Amino acid sequence: MKQFYGFFVLAFVILASCSTNVKERMTTSKQMKPLDTSNMSLSVDPGKDFYRYANGQWMKNNPIPDDKARYGSFDELQESNNEKIRELIKELSAQEAEEGSLTQKIRDFYNSGMDTTRINELGYAPVKPYLEQINAVTSIEDLFSLAGNLQSKGVSYLFSMYAGQDRKNSEMMIANLYQNGLSMPDRSYYLSDDDRSKELRTAFRSHVKAMFELIAVEPDKADAYANNVLNLETALAEISMSRKDRRDPHKTYHKMPLQELHEMTPNISWEAFLPEYGVETPEDLNVAQPDFMKGLNTMLEEYTLEDWKTLLTWKVIDRAAAYLSDDFVNQNFAFYGKVLSGKQEMEPRWKRALNTTSKGMGMALGKMYVNKYFPPEAKARVEELVANLKKAYKSRIRNVSWMTDATKEKALEKLDAMTVKVGYPDEWRDYSDLDIAPGKYFENVLQASAFNIDYNLDKIGKKADPKEWHMTPQTVNAYYNPANNEIVFPAAILQPPFFFQHGDDAVNYGAIGVVIGHEMTHGFDDKGRLFDKNGNLNEWWTEEDSREFNKRAEQLVAHFGDFVPIKDMHLDGELTLGENIADNGGLHIALDALHLSLKDMDAQKIDGFTPEQRFFLSYAQIWRQNIRDEELMRRLKEDVHSPGEYRVNGGVFNVDAFYNAFSEVSASDRLYRAPEKRADIW
Ligand SMILES: [Zn+2]
Repeated sequence: MKQFYGFFVLAFVILASCSTNVKERMTTSKQMKPLDTSNMSLSVDPGKDFYRYANGQWMKNNPIPDDKARYGSFDELQESNNEKIRELIKELSAQEAEEGSLTQKIRDFYNSGMDTTRINELGYAPVKPYLEQINAVTSIEDLFSLAGNLQSKGVSYLFSMYAGQDRKNSEMMIANLYQNGLSMPDRSYYLSDDDRSKELRTAFRSHVKAMFELIAVEPDKADAYANNVLNLETALAEISMSRKDRRDPHKTYHKMPLQELHEMTPNISWEAFLPEYGVETPEDLNVAQPDFMKGLNTMLEEYTLEDWKTLLTWKVIDRAAAYLSDDFVNQNFAFYGKVLSGKQEMEPRWKRALNTTSKGMGMALGKMYVNKYFPPEAKARVEELVANLKKAYKSRIRNVSWMTDATKEKALEKLDAMTVKVGYPDEWRDYSDLDIAPGKYFENVLQASAFNIDYNLDKIGKKADPKEWHMTPQTVNAYYNPANNEIVFPAAILQPPFFFQHGDDAVNYGAIGVVIGHEMTHGFDDKGRLFDKNGNLNEWWTEEDSREFNKRAEQLVAHFGDFVPIKDMHLDGELTLGENIADNGGLHIALDALHLSLKDMDAQKIDGFTPEQRFFLSYAQIWRQNIRDEELMRRLKEDVHSPGEYRVNGGVFNVDAFYNAFSEVSASDRLYRAPEKRADIW
C-alpha cells in the first residue's frame, strides 16, 4: 500500500524446490561460496559485457523454471526461504493447538489452502453471497455502501484509502486517497497503440469474458460484460496519473478538508462509503490525484448504474479467483501468469498457499521465522557495516564539489538523523482479533485482509509509530522510508549472496554494503532529497544546489535511456532515475567503506582476484538473473528498477575505481565511459 523506495519492491517470484538443509541456520549456508568463479564466463571481455563476464556460466546453468517469469539471486533466496517456512508450518501442524492460538490460525489458514477437495467442491459458492448483494443494488448510494464494505475486505474497486504519515507533518497519520481501478498493471496497456499493448487488451477482454462464463453468465452476455469492463477501465486509465508523475511527492500531495472532497466529487456517496469501509469521518485527508477524482465524478454521470455493477462484479471475481476451484485458478493464471509474465506453469499449490498465509499473517510467521533462523550475530555484524557506510557517506558529502557548504551541513544532519532497523521489529503485532477457520480458504483470505486493513485504518488521526515495520522479516528486500528517514533490512536479505557471515570484506561490501549504501542514497535521490531530516517535504536545498543536482541526474537519465533491452523498447531513464541514483551512490559509498576497512588492497588476492575486483564481481552477482521476454517487457513499463543486467552494466562503468580494478577495459570497449561522462552524484 504505502509507497516505499524498496530496492526491489515488486512481488517475488518463487522457485522450484531445492535441497536446502532447512535445519541449518541461514547465514551459515555452506553451499554457496562467497564468490564462486565457476559462475563467471572468463572468455567474455569485461569491457564489452561485465554482467556476463561475472555471471555468464551461472546464467547457462540456471534456466528459468517453468513456473517462474524470471530467476535470479532474489528468487534463489526466496526459494530456500519458502522451504524454511514450509518446515515451520509442518512443525506447527504436528502440535496440539488451542483454539484461537497463533498455531491454530497459521495451521488452519495454510491447510485450508491445501484442501483442494473442499475447494473444488465449493466451486464459486464462496463469492455467491457477494454477487447477490451486487445484483440487489438499486442506487449509487447502495453501490458505494457495498463497495466500501467489500473494500474493507480487500476487494479494490475505484480508489484506495489508507493511513500514512502526513508528508508535511510526518508525526501524524492521515488518510490518503489514491487512484485505482485498473486490472492490468499499467495505464499504458489500455491507451498505447504498440503491438504488445493491443495484444494484452485483446487477451484481457477474453479473460474477463471467460471469468463471467465461469459464474454461469451466458456467452453473449459475458461478451457484453467484458466489453463494459474494458471500456470502463480504459476510461479510468485515461484519467489516471502516470507512473512518472506519481514519483513526484509534490504532485501527489493535496491535503484538504473532507468537505472539499465532497464538493469536488458530489456524485460519490462518501457518507455511504466511509462508514462501511471503516473510516470515521476524517477531518482532512490527502487526495493524491484530484484530477482522477474529478474525472471519476464525471464518469459517474456518463455510465449507467448497471455498468458500475458489472465492474464491481468483475472486481469480486478477480479478487477471489486464485482461492476458488481449479477452473478459476487456471483461467486466472492463463492471463496474469502466462500472458502478462510468460510463465509456463503454475507454482505448486503449497507455495501459493504458503504465500497467501505469509501475506495474511506475515508478522506472526515472521516471529517464528526469526526465532528459528536468524542468528543475533548477523544483526550485530550488519549494524557495524551500516556504521562504516555512514562514515564513508559523510566524508563523501563533505567532499562533493558541486554543493554549497550550507546545504552540505543540512545533508550531513539528515544522514546523522537517519535511523536503521535490522532483522525484525522490537514489538510484535497482536493477532488475537483475527478469526481463521478450517476448510474456508477464501473466507480466511478475506478475514486476514479485513484484519490488516482495519489495523492500518485505525491509525488515521493518530501519532505515527516510529517502531512500525512495513515489511515482514521473511521478505527478501530492503527499503528506505522518507517519512521516517529510516533504512530497514529484514532478516531474510541478510543471507548469501547478499551477506556472508564469514565472507571476506570485499564480497560483503560489494553486496550487502552496496544494498545499504543504496538505501541510504534514497534519502538523497531525486525524490528523497525533497524530504528533510524529520521526514517532511520541505525545501532545504538552495536553488543553485538543486540545479547542480539535476544536471548530474540528467546524465543518468540519458545514460540509462540509451539502453535497448528488447526489440525497440528503451529503458526508461526517468522512471528508473531514483533507483539508478541509489545504485550509483551505493557503489561509491560501499567502495569507500571497503577502502576504510581494508588498508592493503593488493595483498589479499583470492582465486586470483584483488579485493576491488571481488567487490565489483560480488555486486554483479547479486543482480544475476534470467528473465522471460514477456516479463522483461512488462517490467520496462512498470518497474522503477532497471533490469539486473543494466544495474550492473549501467552501474559499474560510472565508477572510476572500476577502471583501475579491471585495467583491461579500454576506451574502445562498448561499455566504456569517458571520465567526463561518468555520473557521480554522491
Ligand atoms: Zn531502491
